[in-house]
Amino acid sequence: MKQILSRSTVLAVILFAAQLSSIGQASAVEERNVRAGMVFLAGDALQGRGSGTQYERITAEYVGSQFMQFGLEPAGEIGFDGNAGFVQTVNVSRAVIAGNPTISFGSTSLTHGGEMVVLRTNSAKASGPLQRISIGGKPNPGAAAFLTVNETDEPRAVQQAMQGLAAAGASIVIVPENAQWRQSWPTFAARRLGFRVVPSATPSVLVVVSKTAADELARATEGTEIKFQGSLDPAATTQTWNAIGKISGSDPATASELVVLSSHLDHLGVRENAPGEDKIFNGADDDASGTVAVMELARVLAAGKRPKRTVYFVCYGSEEAGGYGSGHFVNNLPFPKEKLIANLQWEMIGRPDAKVGADELWLTGYERSNLGPELVRRGAKLVADPHPSENFFQRSDNYTLARQGIIAHTISSFGLHTDYHRASDELRTIDFSHMTRSINSMIKPIVWLLNSDFKPQWVEGKRP
Ligand SMILES: [Zn+2]
Repeated sequence: MKQILSRSTVLAVILFAAQLSSIGQASAVEERNVRAGMVFLAGDALQGRGSGTQYERITAEYVGSQFMQFGLEPAGEIGFDGNAGFVQTVNVSRAVIAGNPTISFGSTSLTHGGEMVVLRTNSAKASGPLQRISIGGKPNPGAAAFLTVNETDEPRAVQQAMQGLAAAGASIVIVPENAQWRQSWPTFAARRLGFRVVPSATPSVLVVVSKTAADELARATEGTEIKFQGSLDPAATTQTWNAIGKISGSDPATASELVVLSSHLDHLGVRENAPGEDKIFNGADDDASGTVAVMELARVLAAGKRPKRTVYFVCYGSEEAGGYGSGHFVNNLPFPKEKLIANLQWEMIGRPDAKVGADELWLTGYERSNLGPELVRRGAKLVADPHPSENFFQRSDNYTLARQGIIAHTISSFGLHTDYHRASDELRTIDFSHMTRSINSMIKPIVWLLNSDFKPQWVEGKRP
């Protein structure tokens, strides 16, 4: 049944619509813009936006150029005309371990690729007294923790436990192999071991040892000195690029309070040894989709009424290589850290997640702060991450900020599809209409946050 409107009703509707647009909330993300951004970022021309490559730089320049077009204020380095631009160049000093490092204790020496494999190191040298420990145990500061695990424990869970021990102060963390580790032994053995040079970092090394070596460690006296040793190639400085723009808050009382909307613009680039014909890792979902979300939010917010609080739009370089772009950003914030009230990172919203309701997005670490629940009260279709065992809260740039105490979460709808970190994460798998609806669904809640005086807090005991 049609409804026939009187002329005065029509006039009232027009006036109401005009009022809506004058308060700046009428504009919405358009699917053609989502598509346009995705086609460029995830097309083969950008060669997978490899971390620290010229393609990553072109990506950052493109995002920055878009920010400029939308009318954001620049927050990057000085450009060609002596004015601030929209790109920030970050120097990354990386060291590479030459040859195969060793672990030694008593008269035993284990070599990387032989009796042990190094999963991760941030130093060429580390040492500490042997301490046997089980999952959940507390390491002594500087200990070489030998972690007891079960044959059936998932490598990912074990690796998380290892990282936990390293973060808690162990200098070396050792686990015995199981069948699954043994399977990936050649892959770990073939890897070049490198790390970002951070002058003040305390050494931490994660190692898997063979059954034979584990038996020896089991027999060794508690407190035996364990030594990790490798030699370094000279550190090489590489670069990565962030795109940054902002809208300064309109209210003098609250303009100093900030919200950061972010994504990572890099992906894995071209991998010649990838299986199959296709060597380009386009990263359409990861994280061209999040970068388009940040760009489209910038477009819409810049076209609307200036919010009371200041909002930064930041697309980081080199997330995939270790979070270098976000690391630099958070360590060189262009404003006082305590003024940054929240960060929402966008990651992998290219397809819906069957584990949550239609058009719902999930927020990593939902239960850790009151930000998610408050955004939901303002209309956001956000739910808790339905894949808690994946620890996604720790797996994106938000964590770099969260570790510094900033309320920082990631928004996603990643349904654990099998194209993750494969060459097949391509445009043809993207659901543009889902993306458009997803970004649109967050505009109102974000505009509310930017105009409110709500300051999110960690839930007691849940701060990372
Ligand atoms: Zn990602």
